[in-house]
Amino acid sequence: MIYDVVVVGSGFSAIATVCNLIELLPASSAIAVIGDDPGFGRGTAYRTELYLHRLNVPAARMSLFPDRPDAFVQWLSEHDRSLSAGDFASRNDYGLYVRDTLASLLRNRKSRCRVDFIKAKATGCMEQYRSSLAFFLDNGDEIAARSVVLCLGVGNAKLPVDLGHLSAAARTRVVKNPWRLSWLHKVGAKDRVCILGSGLTMIDQVLALSAHGFEGQVDVLSRRGLAPHGHSRNPHHAASIDIAALPTRMSKLLRSLRDESRKTGDWRDVMDGLRPQTQALWQRLDKSERARFLRHALPWWNIHRHRVGPEVFQRFQDLVHDGKVVLHAGYLQEIEETNDGLRLRYRARGRKDVLSLDADWVVNCTGMERAGIDHSPLLREMLRQKLISADPLRLGIAVDGQSRVSRSGEEKGVQIHAVGALTAGQFWEITAVPDIRVQARQVAQVLAGASPPVSDARQF
Ligand SMILES: Cc1cc2nc3c(=O)[nH]c(=O)nc-3n(C[C@H](O)[C@H](O)[C@H](O)COP(=O)(O)OP(=O)(O)OC[C@H]3O[C@@H](n4cnc5c(N)ncnc54)[C@H](O)[C@@H]3O)c2cc1C
Repeated sequence: MIYDVVVVGSGFSAIATVCNLIELLPASSAIAVIGDDPGFGRGTAYRTELYLHRLNVPAARMSLFPDRPDAFVQWLSEHDRSLSAGDFASRNDYGLYVRDTLASLLRNRKSRCRVDFIKAKATGCMEQYRSSLAFFLDNGDEIAARSVVLCLGVGNAKLPVDLGHLSAAARTRVVKNPWRLSWLHKVGAKDRVCILGSGLTMIDQVLALSAHGFEGQVDVLSRRGLAPHGHSRNPHHAASIDIAALPTRMSKLLRSLRDESRKTGDWRDVMDGLRPQTQALWQRLDKSERARFLRHALPWWNIHRHRVGPEVFQRFQDLVHDGKVVLHAGYLQEIEETNDGLRLRYRARGRKDVLSLDADWVVNCTGMERAGIDHSPLLREMLRQKLISADPLRLGIAVDGQSRVSRSGEEKGVQIHAVGALTAGQFWEITAVPDIRVQARQVAQVLAGASPPVSDARQF
């Protein structure tokens, strides 16, 4: 059979798209969801079982549906979680909420469309007579679709150095994918741990180590040694920012945001005012200014924009204060083996000399890969067949303002959309739930031929 829509991926973007499709497509339609993740909907973000791994967005902004903003807060209260709208719930609970929401839509068998979940990875594809696209799965099956939604997320960032020269034993001491939390059980309470990368993933891993009774020191190495800020315990009102009045040259733009922060007295108010308008602001910048932003401002943007909840922030700060976590700024040059572990050589930021850190474990927390194509054999194949084209700044794949994939070849053919971080070139701010849920709704509306688009409910 040929499905009306095939959704490729099994993380939040895929499930948000499927939930909306179930609501909008006629009962006669058929959807298939192809995903290699056993916990459909959880992805890397919401699979964790550690209660300390919290959302970094307050519960009030985490509903799956932009037009029903209270849904997650309601779920929390129905499940006896004593949390309110402004609290930062656990990511595990969020995964359960997504699962429950999907399950309740699926229970309504009589009036909904058919939905088949296929546990497999799509490894290749082929367009047939420009009217359907067949995906080849790693289990040997083939699935064809009239329309496709790509929800592949982004891959884990690769280690910045080669490990080919290390012995097999030494290589087991390098944790390439910290999301598989099993590595924590192997770490001795007083081992030396060095984490590469100083973003949200690093904070997650530091807290996970501490929850596992780790008592040693964690060295954190990143190019600038900058760690995320925390949300305020008493958030003020978001500043009102007129983005049409903001300059579009990066240096002037940053200066005017700094001026605004001085005026309001708290830069968080400015970031919060900018937050619902970031996509529109990004779209006003030309390619060279976007490239300038990526080259110079990105690390600062990340720590101000991607903040952690106040409780998590305080725990992390306490560890830094007690010397249990030490941040280093520098460029990793190599990892070598020593008699009793690993040695990381790095060029300290702003200096010429090479320093070293000794460790029993090296953990790659350089985060998610910047949305690209290289990590995915499927996307590479689609690029080869000119079914997709790459974003010019290598921020995933090129899509239009409706998330419709721009082909590099013949424009006619099967409709392909993308949802999530793969569309960062067009939207930039498209990694978190408040943005993805709006995009998922809009794509489902286009596929269902429904209009008008949902109102943008990112603003709270
Ligand atoms: C640790 C962490 C914490 C976060 N916390 C928050 C938060 O608090 N609030 C918030 O709003 N956002 C948060 N985010 C952002 C988060 O990325 C998004 O909310 C969302 O989970 C992204 O989902 P996704 O489906 O786009 O990508 P992913 O979750 O990466 O899912 C993509 C899925 O597609 C599958 N896939 C890839 N290729 C194929 C293929 N060829 N065939 C089949 N399947 C394939 C992958 O295996 C994966 O399961 C967090 C992210 C992380 C990593």
